[in-house]
Amino acid sequence: MLALRTSAPAFSAAEAERIARDDYGIGVAASPLSGERDCNLRLQCADGRQFVLKIVDDELDPGAAARLVAVLTHLAEISPELPVSRLIPTQTGDALVKIRRDGAVYSAVLMSFLSGEHLHGTAQALQLRQIGATLALTTRALQGYFPASLQQPLAWDPRQLPQLIQYAGDLQPVQARAAVESVAQTLKHSLPTLRGFRSQAIHGDCHPRNLLFSPNGGGVCGVLDFGDMMHAPLIFEPAIAMAELLMEGLATLTSVGAILQTFAQSQRLEANEVGALFDLIAARHASTLLISAWRTRHDRSGAAALDSSAAGAWNSLAALLGEGRESLTAHWQAAACTVPVARGAGAVNLQRRHRLLGAGAELFYEKPLHIVRGEGVWLYDADGRAHLDVYNNVPHVGHGHPAVVAAIARQSAALATHTRYLHPGILDYAEELMQGLPPGLDACIFVNSGSEANDVAWRLAKMASGHEGALIMDHAYHGITDAVGALTPGSGQPAAPWVVALAPPTDGALTGPQLLQAEAGAKNAIGSLKQRGVAPAAWFIDSALTSSGIFDPARQWGSAIERTVRAAGGLVVADEVQFGLGRAGSHFWSFERRGLRPDIITLGKPVGNGYPMGIVIAGRDLIESFQRKFGFFSTFGGNAVAAAAGSAVLRVLREEKLQANALTTGEYLRARLAEVASRHEQLLETRGCGLLQGLTVGGADSNAARSNARRIVNRLAAEHRILIGTEGPGANVLKMRPPMSFGPQHADQLAAALDAVASA
Ligand code: PMP
Repeated sequence: MLALRTSAPAFSAAEAERIARDDYGIGVAASPLSGERDCNLRLQCADGRQFVLKIVDDELDPGAAARLVAVLTHLAEISPELPVSRLIPTQTGDALVKIRRDGAVYSAVLMSFLSGEHLHGTAQALQLRQIGATLALTTRALQGYFPASLQQPLAWDPRQLPQLIQYAGDLQPVQARAAVESVAQTLKHSLPTLRGFRSQAIHGDCHPRNLLFSPNGGGVCGVLDFGDMMHAPLIFEPAIAMAELLMEGLATLTSVGAILQTFAQSQRLEANEVGALFDLIAARHASTLLISAWRTRHDRSGAAALDSSAAGAWNSLAALLGEGRESLTAHWQAAACTVPVARGAGAVNLQRRHRLLGAGAELFYEKPLHIVRGEGVWLYDADGRAHLDVYNNVPHVGHGHPAVVAAIARQSAALATHTRYLHPGILDYAEELMQGLPPGLDACIFVNSGSEANDVAWRLAKMASGHEGALIMDHAYHGITDAVGALTPGSGQPAAPWVVALAPPTDGALTGPQLLQAEAGAKNAIGSLKQRGVAPAAWFIDSALTSSGIFDPARQWGSAIERTVRAAGGLVVADEVQFGLGRAGSHFWSFERRGLRPDIITLGKPVGNGYPMGIVIAGRDLIESFQRKFGFFSTFGGNAVAAAAGSAVLRVLREEKLQANALTTGEYLRARLAEVASRHEQLLETRGCGLLQGLTVGGADSNAARSNARRIVNRLAAEHRILIGTEGPGANVLKMRPPMSFGPQHADQLAAALDAVASA
């Protein structure tokens, strides 16, 4: 049975004054203070000091005084800045006094008096933010506190609502009864979820009468009454405070979110916790109505103590339910920063984007998406809809991976600066990254993007070879700097005379004549360079041949070209920006799958899982000659945060066995795509491997093929919320390159949707 009854022991001012004199050695004038279950008296000394004497009935509330002593002792030790009463020991050094009167036993505790004002009238945003900050401080201070007494069930705990519902018969009006019953039902269903939330000791009753404000606007100067503490999900603390402010009419549904804003600044909240707020706040309303109904019948003075909140509870609950879970949750998620702030649909309109970024700033899809959050393989738009991400490789180990986010946050909080100080992070990362690379690839240069990495690689190759010419694959993409733009034929830069492109191979095993043809192609290209007066400094190769159309030729293809380039004095630069870090499935480094022994490796996009990073790996001799010659330095390259992000990515890849997943899910995906393609005339051939797959789309001519591919991509996005892209010189290759945690269930979802779209 939950304790619903209230009744405070009655002690007179004279009795309190006697206790103060006999046990504490202070002369005071006592006056009564309010209290639901305890007798509280304010003690005023002649010298101006003030105290509170709290007297508890040991039989009615066994152990309550000892619990109060324990928590106040804990808080004084852990969080001296928290504005709570301090214990005053007796003359003999005891924390509490036992009082026997008329055969009953009471405990008295003396505490410092906190002076301040209660909230009155509508709380200002600043005050709500101050409450949030105080709740965060309180929960932080209580984090490791766990006395056994916290396990006692408490009527006010929202999780007890299903027990209280037996009193719903007394509720008026009838709509209130129906609403309370439905709130209790919903809460009951969410109990298992709540059990999974991070939990700890909380104050549990931060209603406005338990908070004191300093009169000059200086914030909360008193947190009173730790008598309703519970071990509960952390989110209960703001939930209860928000509910109480609403019921008292001191805050509105729109304003009350300000509490979350500051609470979440020091007690980071998770989206699912904020997602539970609506039901918890509703539950607190329902509990108040039920307890008040019970007390009206059985405990009139107890009911009176609840008057101010109970009177407003039904209207407040009706307003809450009327506003609805979805809009309030979205509002609160934004306040708690569990989703980036969405600034209304109009704020992201196209004209504004064009005006500020130029009309040519690329956008995906006919109906561009306003994405606000990512998690794993999912992206969420501003309306909360989930989209399956089969496109993005920057979030290599999954969007918002908590291990990477935590590593970045931790390191940003500790140190984020440039790279001219000693720091072990980048060394640990470099060591781990280069483990398993062939000998001779043993030093790193850190930059901030794939383009920069390729730019540096180009300079290294020219310096090492003494040559000026470049070989690339047809329709290659290597980045945006002036030099690398020349290695990127689609960049719009005029074709540079020192660059020659090789035709891409076909997918899979190659015949002898095809290999000879590849070798002859490389020889011809080198010949063309020679005619223009240059020799090859390097062959740049993205091992997935992504922008060339996505191909997965046998190793002999790569070796054959590499031999030819080396014979002409050129280096091999393996651009791992697309395909590195296990995406190929079969290999961690995709150049291995291509049969290459590169002199230089470049890395970008996936290495930081969204934190901008670029890396060049080469031989130490080469890098040191370059440093001697050019004195290279990049401000952010290899900073401590980048190192933390990079290390976390490698750790997650290993722990979650994501390369193995890329292999098995990649094979499964390819099989599913092939099966769908076999049913549709316009779907032609599957390409690629691991989690970088292509599917070519046909049409009457290349224009028709391109528009068919575009239509499929747009319809998958608009009708199935599945995000893929197009690729290749003809833009008719469907490109699928999801985060590495993409599983067979996602492949099934994609295949089914593709089947539907192709049928349409
Ligand atoms: N190389 C390859 C193979 C790429 O795909 C890209 C980016 N798409 C780059 C280099 C350039 O990387 P970034 O955009 O980080 O400069």
